Amino acid sequence: MNAQSEQVWDVCVIGGGPAGMMAAARAAELGASVVLLERNNSLGKKLLITGGGRCNVTNAEFDTKKLLSKFKDGGKFLASPFSQWNSKDTIEFFNGRGMPTKVQAENRAFPVSDTAQSVWDVLVEYLKESGVTVMSNSRVESLNTENGRIVSAQLKYGDAVRAHAFILATGGLSHPETGSTGDGFRMLKALGHRVNDTEAALVPLALKVPLVDAAGVALRDVKITVYQNNVKQETGSGKMLFTHVGLSGPAILNLSREIGELLKYGDVDVEVDLLPDQGFDVVDAKLQEIFRTDINKKIRNVLGTMVQPSLVTSILQFAQIDPDTKCNSVTREMRVRLMKTLKHLRLPVTGLLGMDKAVTTSGGVALTELDFKTMSSILFPNLFLVGDILDIDRPSGGYSLQICWTSGFVAGTSAAQYATSAQ
Ligand SMILES: Cc1cc2nc3c(=O)[nH]c(=O)nc-3n(C[C@H](O)[C@H](O)[C@H](O)COP(=O)(O)OP(=O)(O)OC[C@H]3O[C@@H](n4cnc5c(N)ncnc54)[C@H](O)[C@@H]3O)c2cc1C
Repeated sequence: MNAQSEQVWDVCVIGGGPAGMMAAARAAELGASVVLLERNNSLGKKLLITGGGRCNVTNAEFDTKKLLSKFKDGGKFLASPFSQWNSKDTIEFFNGRGMPTKVQAENRAFPVSDTAQSVWDVLVEYLKESGVTVMSNSRVESLNTENGRIVSAQLKYGDAVRAHAFILATGGLSHPETGSTGDGFRMLKALGHRVNDTEAALVPLALKVPLVDAAGVALRDVKITVYQNNVKQETGSGKMLFTHVGLSGPAILNLSREIGELLKYGDVDVEVDLLPDQGFDVVDAKLQEIFRTDINKKIRNVLGTMVQPSLVTSILQFAQIDPDTKCNSVTREMRVRLMKTLKHLRLPVTGLLGMDKAVTTSGGVALTELDFKTMSSILFPNLFLVGDILDIDRPSGGYSLQICWTSGFVAGTSAAQYATSAQ
């Protein structure tokens, strides 16, 4: 169904991530007419990659005081919304809708199915059942105001969508390919809201076993693949530098924000392809040729024709090959190990340098700019703010999504009530 430009909805929700979906369905459940505007062609893209695809749906600490103590300064702001919807409510909500959960270390709760798709399915069913109209491919550009109220959401390619109340759920800045590119921050700044900058996230990596002999070696072109639970998460390419404790250089720095985010949810490996322009077969053929030509030389003296000579010691160490091995004694197994090292150098990451990974701040709208009883803006009483758009410093362990469920529920309730009283 298309939103008619002359139609005035009770509630317009901008952004179909977990916070927006929860808010929209809750408002509609209370009887409000609700339109959900999502810029992508489908909802909840980021939700589907949470927890390495397993989705740590909440933190099952049911003592709200204890739970909120984990939020640093943000905890005191969250007491009121959490008194309306806490992590027990989250568990009951999903369980009650046919998604059983299990609780693992540090109270991390996951769907028993071990897949984020189950969480997505519950939310989409909730939206359908409550009668929310979803408009995908609808990117909102700005919010129009009149007399201290928001009156419409201007679509980038289309009409303005009018409503009595608006819920902004456009997310933060991580994983921009999922749709969260900071549009909400720009809209809020334009309305006069204070939005704290996101913390600089371009930082080098620390490795479990740094290649110390290679420290200082810079490579002009490598391909990097980032893994969590052996599942490919990110890729990048370009210049890379080996340091005494790990890796740096543009290819690494550009991936550090995503790696930092992934580290919150589990172990991360980076895999370096040192010869990205050459396939396995080509590398194998070259190695065989080198070993045939320099039959009596030591391997450490010939490998410098394939990679930078200053890398040779580390490569051989990694491939568990004695550097003094004569070329004519290199076995097929050794050659395979060498090729794997050159093409798939797997390095477990222990953390980001210069950033306490447990307490990274995400930036967002300043918490003093909201009334947390309703999640409304202090500048515009009919604007409600939810999810990652809020500047809440939180640890890993399901806390981020719990903020989405709580703020979404409270904003959905308040927006529906506001819309009713406005008519
Ligand atoms: C790799 C990764 C793993 C994670 N794992 C977990 C986990 O296991 N547990 C946990 O608690 N948290 C996890 N998180 C954090 C969690 O994903 C976020 O807290 C959550 O997705 C925030 O939800 P949101 O609805 O606020 O924003 P988002 O999920 O970012 O959704 C925002 C939506 O708004 C849309 N949008 C943006 N701009 C516009 C616009 N102008 N017009 C219309 N629509 C727009 C976007 O397309 C998007 O669909 C993880 C994050 C990452 C990056």
